[in-house]
Amino acid sequence: MSRPDRTAPGQRAWDQDGWWRAHRFLVLRRLSQATLLGLFLVGPWFGFWLVKGTLAASLTLDTLPLTDPFIALQSLLAGHLPESSALVGVALVLIAYIMLGGRVYCAWVCPINPITDGAHWLRERLDLDKGWRLDRRAKYWLLAAALLVSLVGGTVAWEAVNPITILHRELIYGGLVAGSLGWTVIIAVFAFDLLVSRRGWCGHVCPVGAFYGLVGRLSLLRVSAHRPAACDDCMDCYAVCPEPHVITPAIKAMDRGPVILSQDCSNCGRCIDVCAPAVFRYAWRGDVRTEEPSVPIGTEQRRQAA
Ligand code: SF4
Ligand code: SF4
Repeated sequence: MSRPDRTAPGQRAWDQDGWWRAHRFLVLRRLSQATLLGLFLVGPWFGFWLVKGTLAASLTLDTLPLTDPFIALQSLLAGHLPESSALVGVALVLIAYIMLGGRVYCAWVCPINPITDGAHWLRERLDLDKGWRLDRRAKYWLLAAALLVSLVGGTVAWEAVNPITILHRELIYGGLVAGSLGWTVIIAVFAFDLLVSRRGWCGHVCPVGAFYGLVGRLSLLRVSAHRPAACDDCMDCYAVCPEPHVITPAIKAMDRGPVILSQDCSNCGRCIDVCAPAVFRYAWRGDVRTEEPSVPIGTEQRRQAA
């Protein structure tokens, strides 16, 4: 489907309800990503140790262990039994993402996300075509390969090349300098999404996102298209969604209910931001309630055209 006009996505929501309404979850996501990164950085940079470690494994206030379950699983397959505190950390992380949606990690935590979002922003400004259409299952094949290599090779395989770990480690331990591996992965991921494949890295390649998607398959927090009748097919949500295929079943196939159930949805909230008729909202998984629009569809467009 193509957009009926070239008005910037979200412009109508901005004109109608103000800048904050059209950008609130985007701003909150960037704040979340920056805050979480900042918590890791204040220790090594300023000697104020709130959190020790990296996203792979950390200890908050010398008390709360958090461990990346994908890394722990590779480690286990490689023959290294994680310590009991690491297993507690795995359990806590899994509980959080089973509740909130696995790919919440992608939208609200991962430091690579602003880089891929930036590449997508530039791609749209340059009006580049979609590029190489990778199979959406590629990330699951890579996930399986990472686990298999860990098992056979006795090593935590994906961590050797994981851009998240490389970037995070170099930021925290001060290695992010010109020509470092961290800069190389930043440029490589940015260039891949800009020049090779639209939304390619996170949508089709990254096994970490694939893993968290599987973790959140049955998550409680979802986005619901609770006012489907208000949709006027402006396509703004499709234009901003990093995984637009997840929207159609909720908004068009109402026999399946209004809740977006795909594990690919990252609960980023951009569709909520940009939708002028407020079709979307956050909801619990079982919330199948829908509402009729309070004003007839097209009222806003007619008001603006008048
Ligand atoms: S898909 Fe991978 S790189 Fe992209 S945001 Fe998710 S975890 Fe980060
Ligand atoms: S459906 Fe909405 S919340 Fe889910 S990924 Fe797309 S824009 Fe983000």
